[in-house]
Amino acid sequence: MNTINLYDDCIIDFHFHNFNDLSVPVNFFPFNMVKILQKLNTSKTFEKILYKLIGEDDYDLLDRYLLYLKTSVLTTKDIYLDHLKQFPKNTCVNILLMNMAHMKAGKVKKDYEELIKETIQLKKDGYKVLISFMVDPREERNEYFLNTYGEYFDCIKMYPLLGYFPYDKRLDPIYDWCEKNNKPVIFHCSQKNPVYYRGKDIDELLKGCIFPIVHGIGNKNKVKNFNDIRGIIHVARNRPNINIDVAHFCSHIEIMKYINGDDSSWTKLLLDAAKKLPNLYMDSSFAIKDIKTRKFLRGVLSDPILCKKVLFGTDGYMNKTTASPFVYYPGIKNYIGKQQFKMISHDNIIQFLKL
Ligand SMILES: [Zn+2]
Repeated sequence: MNTINLYDDCIIDFHFHNFNDLSVPVNFFPFNMVKILQKLNTSKTFEKILYKLIGEDDYDLLDRYLLYLKTSVLTTKDIYLDHLKQFPKNTCVNILLMNMAHMKAGKVKKDYEELIKETIQLKKDGYKVLISFMVDPREERNEYFLNTYGEYFDCIKMYPLLGYFPYDKRLDPIYDWCEKNNKPVIFHCSQKNPVYYRGKDIDELLKGCIFPIVHGIGNKNKVKNFNDIRGIIHVARNRPNINIDVAHFCSHIEIMKYINGDDSSWTKLLLDAAKKLPNLYMDSSFAIKDIKTRKFLRGVLSDPILCKKVLFGTDGYMNKTTASPFVYYPGIKNYIGKQQFKMISHDNIIQFLKL
């Protein structure tokens, strides 16, 4: 039941997460960290241990771990309220749920249904939130979740790096539900991420790929086949009635390739497809974090078709790993100007949601 008012000129952060250590599988981090973390009330000691174990040569990874540790002691409501501090009052946040139970990284302590209920409670308590329900084709309770909580869901979220293709046949009932209920789909899209499928049977699963397989060493590299932008475009073409958002402009790395003139970059494929397919959108989360990408964003917004296809999102709290949240959102807003910011943080999102 969507009772929140989105017709005023509020900012909508269309990409935000609320998971913490209880929602990640026990083997998600190396060194048994998840288990240790769940026993600790403080993350201080852990930070010290981590610096020793990982070393300082993998800053990106280390940053993400440390940030995660800092967030892990918080509840859904804490994480959400903390995130809101950077925005004006009345800001709406789209919470993208995460179900990591099927990535073969061990058991998840907190059952997905608990996370769903906890997030719905925020909505029931009157907080201005949208909820994106994450679907995994291996989750047996998808139908039950949609029947029980579907009225609270504003979007469907999919995360192919967890080990499935956007065009997986098992997702057909979900797409049918979206069509019937006029709900859009948000796809995570990047070639790499700490959240990816760990199963040993990955080569077997990749046989379902409809594009030539890109090889690489280990699951970390092989999973990019699941998230290939062409697979998402394929779904957008086959389901013209469902609006589809590709998150992160396909990631910072792909944007940089595009800026450097690489025609095979996923960002290039996305932009070309979005010009042709009315239902294909993209969001700014995580990727628009420096001057080069802000300039890129301004370029995209100068296109009369593409400017209607960009949705503002932060990827909070993950964006904290690249910049202070107090820099990320104003950085984009100040660079593109008030008018265009209103378009991507409100008008385009209303259109995407078909409200
Ligand atoms: Zn995200």
